[in-house]
Amino acid sequence: MASPDLFPNVSFSDVSAGAAPVADGATAAFGVDATSGGPRLSLVRAGKAEVEPTIEIDLSDAQVSTVISLNVIFGGVNRELRGSALRATLDSIFKLGPKEWLCVSDESEAKAGVDEYILNGFMLTPNSLRQKSFSRAVKVVLRTEAESKSFSLAFQRWKQRVISGKAGLSFSLLVSDNFSSACMTGELLENGSIIASRSKFDTKIEASSAKMYFHYYGQLLHQQNMLQDFVRTGTYYAAVMENRSDFEGRVVVDVGAGSGILSLFAAQAGARHVYAVEASEMAEHAQRLISGNPSLGQRITVIKGKVEEVELPEKADILISEPMGTLLVNERMLESYVIARDRLLAPNGKMFPTTGRIHMAPFSDEYLYVEMANKALFWQQHNFFGVDLTPLHGSAFQGYFSQPVVDAFDPRLLISPPTYHTLDFTSMKEEELYEIDIPLSFVASVGTRVHGLACWFDVLFNGSTVQRWLTTAPGSPTTHWYQLRCVLSQPLYVMAGQEITGRLHLVAHSSQSYTIYLTMSAKMWGVGAEQGGILQTSTGKLELKEPYYRLSQPQSYMTSQDQQQQQPQGSEQQMQEGLSPGITIDQVDQECGLH
Ligand code: SAH
Repeated sequence: MASPDLFPNVSFSDVSAGAAPVADGATAAFGVDATSGGPRLSLVRAGKAEVEPTIEIDLSDAQVSTVISLNVIFGGVNRELRGSALRATLDSIFKLGPKEWLCVSDESEAKAGVDEYILNGFMLTPNSLRQKSFSRAVKVVLRTEAESKSFSLAFQRWKQRVISGKAGLSFSLLVSDNFSSACMTGELLENGSIIASRSKFDTKIEASSAKMYFHYYGQLLHQQNMLQDFVRTGTYYAAVMENRSDFEGRVVVDVGAGSGILSLFAAQAGARHVYAVEASEMAEHAQRLISGNPSLGQRITVIKGKVEEVELPEKADILISEPMGTLLVNERMLESYVIARDRLLAPNGKMFPTTGRIHMAPFSDEYLYVEMANKALFWQQHNFFGVDLTPLHGSAFQGYFSQPVVDAFDPRLLISPPTYHTLDFTSMKEEELYEIDIPLSFVASVGTRVHGLACWFDVLFNGSTVQRWLTTAPGSPTTHWYQLRCVLSQPLYVMAGQEITGRLHLVAHSSQSYTIYLTMSAKMWGVGAEQGGILQTSTGKLELKEPYYRLSQPQSYMTSQDQQQQQPQGSEQQMQEGLSPGITIDQVDQECGLH
């Protein structure tokens, strides 16, 4: 068992009494509780035995979350605190200033009545203003800022001991200068309450969506799915290891650490310290994985919380993250990545990945189109147990086409060289991700029916030594992101050399995804064209959060050798013949500039 961390010669002051008594030469000790074995912070006045602490903070039960600002009501006087602060429901510590901490011990009513340190009704959630609870709060002032930093690290270390025992890793630091003055004016915190305001994440994202989202990532099977994506994990590993100089001796923040794999990679590359920030319950598994790899783990601190909310003791030299969703932007985690840059990264710090690109090209896939249209055929029945279903056929048809299709397709289905739209994670504003408007312009390589727009993405690790791309392009080794296709319910007809124009408009919503508005147009040929060109336009509104995972189907990807060996028959043969050869894999690779 680790020996306790002691901080002697700190000074204490009671924030509940009018004239705060100050006890210098006291000791703050992080250790385990003799009875429960859980982690504890004991604050012991000089001259008293450690078994008789002045205040004891139960680190295992501490439930802490950071908020941007909060209001404190002391004896009916409302004080607004700026900066970030904590909303605490149980024992907690608050950072008040560079060397100052407020340690709050929540006492149940049964335990109340303990000496002069009771703060009546120090209630910290907006909904429990009149709850009967009592807290004791002691301000601790450490001798130096360096000691204060060790104090916060010791807090994190001891708190994480919880993980190997019972659940409940939860830690955030806070800075709130005004809070200290509010507390230290010596007013009674009688009937006090703290009304918490919400973080940027909470204001943008619906609570029910976030709950499901973090529940999903809290499960090991989903983390395993990502880890087993060899292209993904292997590319991250290579990008880190080939750029050791960007990690050696550096402070790293892993934004959305999940299992902690990228933190472990950063530690392998020689990082001085890695802060692994993870909001879901996966933080506890990450802590176990990291503790189980002690040579790396001793340089990693797991912090459970949202990157929008946690405060770290130091700025990062480099951020590492895997925030990419389907079509790059799904899940809206890129916004968290950009917020983490602004909150946690030192000026001119690096970001891995550095930039991302959404690639787009029109495609022709008669087979897919027919498959989707046929799904709605069910609603064409006039006598379904005596009921005419046809009134709903139109809605069902549109419903299927509102689902973007996720699968791996043959790049020969593309009928034009792709274009791309770049997102620079190091410079873009978070708000730029709320609405993404991409003008489209292509030239058809062949005459065919255009069934929609195919999309994929790549990201760049712009290392000091090696630039490495992680690509999800069709024809490249398949990843768990596959590719995404927006299928138009009304295909367009194009001739070789004809221009296809349009717009891909992505609008973010509070369910951590986007509504996709797609418009594609082509000039009509024949009589119309001779008369000045009549535009045929097709539009679609699709929901990125509700894709059609078309993965149980046999994959359409075939090598040309496979195709020669195949003997298509009947209608399938007609379908194949109707398909344009599209452009070749080589062309796609060249256009993407990817290797
Ligand atoms: N880095 C891991 C996991 C990537 S998945 C890996 O590469 O394998 C993204 C992770 O980020 C999920 O575990 C999710 O819970 C976490 N996450 C998403 N948004 C977050 C936020 N705002 N703050 C902290 N963690 C977040």
